[in-house]
Amino acid sequence: GGIGELDGRLTGCRACPRLVAWREEVAATKRAAFRDWEYWGRPVPGFGPHDAPLVVVGLAPAAHGGNRTGRMFTGDASGDFLFAALHAVGLASQPTATAPDDGLELYGVRVTSPVHCAPPENKPTPAERDTCRPWLAAEIGLLNPRAIVVLGAFGWQTLLPVLADAGWQLPRPRPRFGHKTVVTLRRAEPDAARPAAGGARGEGPGRDVADELHVIGCYHPSQRNTFTGRLTPPMLVDLLHQAADLAGL
Ligand code: SF4
Repeated sequence: GGIGELDGRLTGCRACPRLVAWREEVAATKRAAFRDWEYWGRPVPGFGPHDAPLVVVGLAPAAHGGNRTGRMFTGDASGDFLFAALHAVGLASQPTATAPDDGLELYGVRVTSPVHCAPPENKPTPAERDTCRPWLAAEIGLLNPRAIVVLGAFGWQTLLPVLADAGWQLPRPRPRFGHKTVVTLRRAEPDAARPAAGGARGEGPGRDVADELHVIGCYHPSQRNTFTGRLTPPMLVDLLHQAADLAGL
């Protein structure tokens, strides 16, 4: 199956008891400002085209953001910051994301997260990260991207093993997360990987399996980083420009 089928299965996942309880409790109690909303209260799938050569990997949906709207990064302060920057780079049709029916479209980029359910205090446990990792692995495998922007160390630490399992050769020692750190990965066995790609694939982007994959670290646009000026809008725009270039956009 393709990304649509994957997303459909994901939204029924109940593998992490603590997160299932939290996402549903938040959906039932709500925040006063959103009392008229019917909260999504389920796993939040990635958002963006199914053939995106650029992927942005965050952390997890926000309790009153994605867990409310059902769309990744939609309806919270981090998303406001991210979509404004994506729009400035020409990767989004509009600078704001408020609701699933707001008309927002992404161009060539898909945003997703290593943990798909809202965690208490935005902190998934290592066990929850490991339980959710196969969803990320499946999504990245179907997208076959050229470049991945990773928002923060949590995503970085989750993604690198996924890429190693997918046949990408990781430098040793394993590169540490840093803002603007770019790691270019190559296939561990390029000749072995190639015949399985291309036309053999029923769905998905139909691109040949790339010889190179660029992984770019970026500070997470959390309020802890944006309020303190650790991550500014020009910094994020600059980094997304670079990432779009590396993705061939
Ligand atoms: Fe399933 Fe991931 Fe949600 Fe855990 S975090 S319940 S693995 S979708």
